[in-house]
Amino acid sequence: MSVSELVGSIPREDTLASPVISVRELVHRYDNRPALNGVSFDVRPAELFGLLGPNGSGKTTMFRILSTLMVPVAGQAIILGYDAAKDPSQLRREIGVVFQAQSIDLKLTATENLQHQGHLYGLHGSPLRSRIREILQRVGLADRARDKAETFSGGMQRRLELAKGLLHGPRVLLLDEPTTGLDPGARRDLWQYLSILRDEEQVTVLVTTHLMEEAERCDRLAILNEGKLVALGTPTELKREIGGDVIVLEAKEPDALAMRIRARFNVDVRVIGGQVRIEKDQAHRFVTDVVEAFPGEIDAVSIAKPSLEDVFIRRTGHRFWTEGAETTQDATKSKARKH
Ligand code: ADP
Repeated sequence: MSVSELVGSIPREDTLASPVISVRELVHRYDNRPALNGVSFDVRPAELFGLLGPNGSGKTTMFRILSTLMVPVAGQAIILGYDAAKDPSQLRREIGVVFQAQSIDLKLTATENLQHQGHLYGLHGSPLRSRIREILQRVGLADRARDKAETFSGGMQRRLELAKGLLHGPRVLLLDEPTTGLDPGARRDLWQYLSILRDEEQVTVLVTTHLMEEAERCDRLAILNEGKLVALGTPTELKREIGGDVIVLEAKEPDALAMRIRARFNVDVRVIGGQVRIEKDQAHRFVTDVVEAFPGEIDAVSIAKPSLEDVFIRRTGHRFWTEGAETTQDATKSKARKH
């Protein structure tokens, strides 16, 4: 065997490293209603890992179990070697948690908020003061240290939440929909900051989101639907499973059109949410053939590179946002209004 073959057979470092978070066959029910149905995945060291799913898919339930707020009905969640159900107090010291609901006190200054947080973790005096200075610098709030949080923009308040979660220097940070209510600029800043944390401080970050564009920024994703894991991998890997482009046709009678396209061209055609969907390479040529074959029957055509929503559709047979549900944008706005 040649040297290059030997080197090629050695596993990469990241696959050798034991997982920082290990979720095994987690099951949870509220009364008798299933919320998580046997979910398993691993999160590797210094990975930015996303838990993506539509509303009601089980993200918050998973988040509550990982952050030790809830004990699962069955299965196990191990973080940094601690069992979330069996060693909650030990684990809480090791992880940072940023909840969706606001936890900062708006009447207090940024520094005062962090002082209270520090005391909870047994930090006092000058070590706490210097840690507060350092962390405020880190999240870009050093010049606002003495200002009350109520004078901050939504993005700044979120960054203060983040500073709270990071004050005790955790190696794992869990965030539940951290960009809820933020404008696009503040959302981008927060994601950039999460990447910096991963790259410069090797923090392992697990973040829940219902936004595809955020999921795209994760190193790896677990996609949930109705309490089940429907996909696991890097965004690129997941999209690559769709051969070619995605063609979407709008028609007055989508079912009839789909049947005729199937019969004529012998391709896999699906009708999802009233639209005809076809995954195909050489999509432009194919679309021309279809339009010529069925003149006047097609109202609109779109061709796009596969997206994470296409992955979701392929795995579940339905759209991420079901008919009548809010669009991504609307959902963000309506959640923002709740705050
Ligand atoms: P997500 O965070 O993805 O929106 P959740 O974990 O909040 O999903 O919810 C998963 C399922 O569990 C949903 O069907 C939801 O209605 C249900 N559920 C969540 N919290 C409760 C609760 N406290 N009591 C009863 N059912 C709940």
